[in-house]
Amino acid sequence: MEMRELPVEGWHKVVHVRDLRAGLDAIISVHDATLGPGCGGCRVRPYRSFDEALEDVKKLSRAMSFKNALAGIPFGGGKSVIIADPRKDKTPEMFRAFGEALNALGGLYYTAEDSGVTEHDLEVVRSVSKFVGGIGAKGEGGNPAPYTARGVWRGIEAAVRYKLGRDSLKGVKVSILGVGAVGMALARLLHEAGARLVVADINEDAVAQAVTCFGAAPVAPARAIAADVDVFSPCALGGSVNRHSIAHLTAPIVAGAANNQLLTPDMDEALRAKGVLYAPDYVINAAGVISVGLEILGRWSQEEMNRRIDAIGPRLTSIFERADAEGRPTGAVADDMAMEIIADAQKAA
Ligand code: NAD
Repeated sequence: MEMRELPVEGWHKVVHVRDLRAGLDAIISVHDATLGPGCGGCRVRPYRSFDEALEDVKKLSRAMSFKNALAGIPFGGGKSVIIADPRKDKTPEMFRAFGEALNALGGLYYTAEDSGVTEHDLEVVRSVSKFVGGIGAKGEGGNPAPYTARGVWRGIEAAVRYKLGRDSLKGVKVSILGVGAVGMALARLLHEAGARLVVADINEDAVAQAVTCFGAAPVAPARAIAADVDVFSPCALGGSVNRHSIAHLTAPIVAGAANNQLLTPDMDEALRAKGVLYAPDYVINAAGVISVGLEILGRWSQEEMNRRIDAIGPRLTSIFERADAEGRPTGAVADDMAMEIIADAQKAA
């Protein structure tokens, strides 16, 4: 195995890992390690070029620094990518070699699931390395999606209270784009809280399930953002709020699980200018990484998870308040707050 450090200004450590016999071509990136070792998922994707993979892992690991800081877990920002097609290239040898690379980094980076990586793949990594989370080794933690959904539910409650002055979700209308692992669990929680749902997904079976179980009204994915609702909740892939779709948004709140909901950074200000309250994605969807973090620390318990999930609402409210006080968009304020936490820790070190 060959491990070569890549000089990347502003990043703590970026390493190119290659093991040709095991079919492994990967990049492990730790953006910041002030608060603790880098923690974030591993993504398997058939990138068109090495540079494309490097850009992706840099961006993702930087976002994890912010996410982990605001989530209040003692981890820095880390992420990894394996350049391969998850449908046909994955092998146990590949993931064992990846585990060896984690060992060689000596705990500087802890991995977990991301797109293209399953719990089974992580179990293979775990067979050679202890620097893995998100697999619920002792029947605790495991698949983060249900926790993520609970955190988003709490976040929607906080946004509805702040923007609409309503203390309950009863009768609040929510349009969920993407009823997958997180979106479906969120739909259940919202339904149980008395919300009225509109759902959209390219998977017709998932839509049918939400219609039957929660009395949701189905809508075409392209129309989900235009639905006449109080909350638009993107829970599919990233980029659903963009230059084109924002013109159709009528909901006063955007609050959902999807990573990178805003296709471009200027959408943050565009939402503010339109009078829309945006719950920054990495703050509202943090319960998954909190579960992974607690599992790695050996401190996972249902009680501790509930306590931390309940803290997501107040954390968002403090972001909303500061954004209003400063006349700035919520996403930029969240970034500032995360950077302040990291800077304070650097000063204290
Ligand atoms: P998932 O794959 O289980 O669900 C995604 C759903 O979106 C699927 O039902 C899919 O059919 C649907 N979808 C995909 N493209 C679509 C499109 N163009 N239009 C409409 N529907 C579409 O994934 P998930 O685990 O539920 O994650 C959802 C989002 O939340 C992702 O952006 C993910 O990065 C983010 N997220 C997930 C977690 C977690 O714990 N799983 C944590 C943080 C963030």
